[in-house]
Amino acid sequence: MPVTGEEIQLILNVIRDTQAVEIDCDVCLMQVGEFAEDRLAGKPIAEGLKAIEQHLLICPECREEFEALCEAMNALENPES
Ligand SMILES: [Zn+2]
Repeated sequence: MPVTGEEIQLILNVIRDTQAVEIDCDVCLMQVGEFAEDRLAGKPIAEGLKAIEQHLLICPECREEFEALCEAMNALENPES
């Protein structure tokens, strides 16, 4: 079955959407604090921070940074424990 122009357009759209939310580690690390704050506060993830969430899923280095940040923030909020 030949690929139709419509299907190609669909694939191109998917690729473009994927790239639109892709960020690099610098951008992620700049905003990961904000992301961690919202997460700890139990807030829904803001539209602008969805790219951070996605980056954390694919980047173990930034995830490590994020987890360390969460631990530090937890320690600040619960100095007793
Ligand atoms: Zn990263």
